[in-house]
Amino acid sequence: MELKFNIAIVGSGLTGSITSLALAKAGYKVALIDPKSFEEFKENNYDTRTTALSKKSKLFFEYLNLWQRMQPFTCMIKNIMVNDGNYEKNIYFNKTQRKKNKPLGFMIRNKDLFAILVDVIKKNKNISKFDNKVNIFYRDQENVTIKLDDKRVITSHLLIAADGKNSFIRKKSGIKTSRKSYNQKAFIFNVKHTKSHNNLATENFLKHGPLASLPIIQNKSNCYSSIVWSCNHPFYYKMIKYAKKDIERELNFYLSEYYGKLTIITKVKSWDLTLVKAQKFFDTRILLLGDAAHSIHPLAGQGLNLTLKGIETLHKLAKNNKTKVDIGSDKILNAFSKKQYLNSTAIIFATDKLNFLFSNSNFFLKKTREIGLYVFKRSDILKNIFKNYASEGKLSIK
Ligand SMILES: Cc1cc2nc3c(=O)[nH]c(=O)nc-3n(C[C@H](O)[C@H](O)[C@H](O)COP(=O)(O)OP(=O)(O)OC[C@H]3O[C@@H](n4cnc5c(N)ncnc54)[C@H](O)[C@@H]3O)c2cc1C
Repeated sequence: MELKFNIAIVGSGLTGSITSLALAKAGYKVALIDPKSFEEFKENNYDTRTTALSKKSKLFFEYLNLWQRMQPFTCMIKNIMVNDGNYEKNIYFNKTQRKKNKPLGFMIRNKDLFAILVDVIKKNKNISKFDNKVNIFYRDQENVTIKLDDKRVITSHLLIAADGKNSFIRKKSGIKTSRKSYNQKAFIFNVKHTKSHNNLATENFLKHGPLASLPIIQNKSNCYSSIVWSCNHPFYYKMIKYAKKDIERELNFYLSEYYGKLTIITKVKSWDLTLVKAQKFFDTRILLLGDAAHSIHPLAGQGLNLTLKGIETLHKLAKNNKTKVDIGSDKILNAFSKKQYLNSTAIIFATDKLNFLFSNSNFFLKKTREIGLYVFKRSDILKNIFKNYASEGKLSIK
């Protein structure tokens, strides 16, 4: 039996799930395909990460009617501190500004975000979830035919690859990638601390890699933050042998000044950090979204925010498509790609160079960094550019 949809999305991680809702809102019938069932996503023991959402992403979630449900699970970031291992040179964003209560971003645990997405998708009549793996697909001038691992067949006008960094769809479509290993891995875990975080996020550019702490929701008696510690390989391989209490000791050394005594309260998980960028974001009847298109360094928390910009662009193209031009046509895919490719290139470049400059103990770069931070501290324009990059995922002065 052949099942017909306007759009098929392969992968129901954050990218695929949010895209399905955005396209269903534009009136399209969507097949969402992932061997992981919704129940597995809700349990979600594999993704212990938290996500920093920009103000622009929040607006998009409001538009999708998701924010109201997400809001109780979010924690505002009201201030960001950037440091180069020398506390006297700390740079704060928002501290001296009048509107100091204005948020710079919002933190949410991926687990909470997934639980909400699953609930909403289940109730959406335009979305059908298939708990399957895609093994084969064929394309012709009008359709994509997708064969699932249980032999069912789906046809659609467009296939969206939201199947992650090592995308099967991208590979089989013959889309090449450029890759760069950062020779770093990131430790991810959550901590409880004795002092309130006061909605402060910190980014410590240490000689062995950037250490970020991000405020997460706190109750009356306990305060929590999420840690993303990107470590250059030698330091990572040293740390991986450590017991939890030893990692805690290192962490307290760098962060107790801001948060009091820190205790690790979750498993310590690690992620490989490699920059992967597809050389193009579409091919006949195929569109790449999320990590399938670009997987970037998490140091500024821009990955999903960049993806959300792409989803918003696609939603607008789909919604404004009054004459119902084929959604998988080159005309639509080209219009999407023009905008999203430029956005991605700018953000990828900025994130990559920031990591290069700050995660390097080379004498020349160290000096450049010191001079850079000195100028940075005194330049409102540069501070504004960084603030917009960190909180809104855009490179601008305003
Ligand atoms: C440590 C870390 C911290 C981060 N922090 C932030 C942050 O603060 N802010 C931010 O904006 N971004 C952040 N990011 C980036 C963000 O988390 C990712 O961009 C995002 O989770 C990627 O989601 P995805 O859905 O594209 O891919 P994935 O989560 O990898 O999902 C891919 C899905 O595709 C499915 N799949 C694969 N192959 C097939 C197949 N053949 N058939 C069917 N299904 C298939 C898989 O089962 C999986 O569910 C961070 C990333 C990392 C690594």
